[in-house]
Amino acid sequence: MTKTHGISSAGVLGYNPPMAHVHDRCICLRKVEYSETSQILLLFSREHGLQRVIAKGAHRRTKAGSSKFDGGVDLLDVGQAVFIAHLERDMGILTEWSLREGNLELRHNLRAMYLGLYAAELMSLLFEEHDPHPDIFDRLETTLLELGTGRLEEAFLAFQLDLLRESGYLPEMNACVNCGSVPGPREMVYFSPSRGGLICGNCEGKVTDRAAFDARLLGMLQTILRLPKSNGAVQRLPKLTRHQTNPINRIFADHMRHTLGKQLRMVPYVVEEARSSC
Ligand SMILES: [Zn+2]
Repeated sequence: MTKTHGISSAGVLGYNPPMAHVHDRCICLRKVEYSETSQILLLFSREHGLQRVIAKGAHRRTKAGSSKFDGGVDLLDVGQAVFIAHLERDMGILTEWSLREGNLELRHNLRAMYLGLYAAELMSLLFEEHDPHPDIFDRLETTLLELGTGRLEEAFLAFQLDLLRESGYLPEMNACVNCGSVPGPREMVYFSPSRGGLICGNCEGKVTDRAAFDARLLGMLQTILRLPKSNGAVQRLPKLTRHQTNPINRIFADHMRHTLGKQLRMVPYVVEEARSSC
């Protein structure tokens, strides 16, 4: 068969409209080294949302030592990028990368690094590609800096709440999802991943996958939720220990696993399982 004769690949490509270069601030959420010199990246672009791009020759330098990609892009780096965005399933092409914030403080603390990578994994799963969320971009950029300080636990928790809220995945944390009653400050409360929220003491027996949740932690969580998102400045948050944030991070991780149908890769590094009391 010779049907395709006369249509060269160049001819087919010639029908594609020219693609514009996009200039935007980006955070690197995922990175795969590809061949000796290239990288495949998932970038969160401030004005253009998630972008899968290939950086050809990311590790290559000229004889003078210069590089179009500042020597390569690292996870959680913030940079000024130039890329050609592709719609649908194709990968875009990163053509320039200029590092603006390498988040070095965060990289000196393993716990901070794990929380940063968990934040990146959540971002990569909760949003569609090419769907911009500049507010959450700004929150993540600030949070990565805050993770490099002594306020990392509360900084991550506040970011997680903002992210779940912005993406529509925040579970109901004020009223019982079964009967609608608002538990009092001293009442036993439970959390159900399958029902997506709180379960009060009266409804506890009607839900099988509930886990007890400390009422004081719930009160603190509700306090943080009442803070305006734009004022998520870490100084306004209560100082929290890992011991306090762990049960909260665990119920959200269970909630995400149920909602997305899979366990997130970073969860075992970030969340300690509840110790069995028997
Ligand atoms: Zn109830």
